[in-house]
Amino acid sequence: MSYIEPAPIKDKENPFESMMSRFHIASQALGLDDEIYEVLKSPTKQVTVNLPVTMDNGSIRVFEGHRVVHSNILGPSKGGVRYDMGVNIDEVKALAAWMTWKCAVVDIPYGGAKGGIKCNPREMSQGEIERLTRAYTQSMNEIFGPDRDIPAPDMGTGPNEMAWMMDEYSKSKGMTVNAVVTGKPLVLGGSLGRTEATGRGVMISALAAMEKTKMNPFEARCAIQGFGNVGSWAAKLLGERGVKIVAISDVSGAYYNDQGIDIAEAIEYRDKNNKSLEGLPGAEKIEGSELLLLDVDVLIPAAMEDVITKHNADKIKAKLIVEGANGPTSYKADSILHEKGIIAVPDILANAGGVTVSYFEWVQNRLGYKWTRERVNRRSDRIMKTAFNNVFETSKEYDVSLRIAAYIVAIKKVSQTYKYRGGF
Ligand code: GLU
Repeated sequence: MSYIEPAPIKDKENPFESMMSRFHIASQALGLDDEIYEVLKSPTKQVTVNLPVTMDNGSIRVFEGHRVVHSNILGPSKGGVRYDMGVNIDEVKALAAWMTWKCAVVDIPYGGAKGGIKCNPREMSQGEIERLTRAYTQSMNEIFGPDRDIPAPDMGTGPNEMAWMMDEYSKSKGMTVNAVVTGKPLVLGGSLGRTEATGRGVMISALAAMEKTKMNPFEARCAIQGFGNVGSWAAKLLGERGVKIVAISDVSGAYYNDQGIDIAEAIEYRDKNNKSLEGLPGAEKIEGSELLLLDVDVLIPAAMEDVITKHNADKIKAKLIVEGANGPTSYKADSILHEKGIIAVPDILANAGGVTVSYFEWVQNRLGYKWTRERVNRRSDRIMKTAFNNVFETSKEYDVSLRIAAYIVAIKKVSQTYKYRGGF
């Protein structure tokens, strides 16, 4: 293989470079052809738009939005749209590539994409967010499509935004096209089980990893960073299976109780308290950054990228990390965790339950049929367990970490498909 190694990573790690470094290692382990390496290393398409939106006070503000399609080799591209002030093209590119690997790891027929708008939805009214979402959808009319590119929720977006996207796209086609987006409200063709799907997949992956490492869930102590959709569902479902959740956190701070936190009560408190854990009764407030360093068995980062880095990785005490967020561990932290014998179930496996049930939503929309929650859960649990075992076996076969093994599984699948298709 003659391809050139990615440029050395600067002190501040960037998510796209982190992704590329793992991609590079896995490609080498696989002996990937130069040609396919070249095809997969850059996104197929990347679009940046500037969206003028009328604000409630009558002024016009221009928002920058992106959509990156990393690959459509396995099928139409799939991935969420993020509303956050931190959105930038490098982040969206990394997130789009992660979607390609994620869909391949769980063996669903999608390529990978991601979108984002640089905005702060917490400071915007419902009407402003709606106008922004409709403007974004209009500008992506040529990119989106149920057989082309299918958006979904991500940080800062949810069922409301998906409903507006579906409506705006449908209007442009003169008919209802509900399969163009997933994560919709139930009444618009959303799937039962989609809301909890990512957290449920995290729970399945965590239990599968505990089994392999002979950790008893009934004796395990767990800390979860992030109490949004992913973190709170993972906490609830793991708690119901006997795992003691001793710490949770959100933007207001982290909350610790050595005896365990009652997650159902914490969710109820958050929902009544303006979506914040601030003042959570029955727990001690600690620094957000301390949560990652607690003496626990399992650590679930379920908030954002780059929280486990070379600066704190050597202080982590957990034996098992299960990545609910996308990209929470930077590339430089990988080797530190590995040397400490900490096992990390990587994002592209651990949080793939969300896109799996998005796939089920799309299948149901196209069938014009609705599955029961039991059917959705049974099938997604099966997919997650199969994917976990596949990655685990691959890590033994190639003598690599679960993360590199997950990339190997994904790259193998995408490159084989590319070969059969003969490139396009
Ligand atoms: N945004 C989610 C993810 O990162 C879901 C994507 C989807 O369902 O298409 O996996």
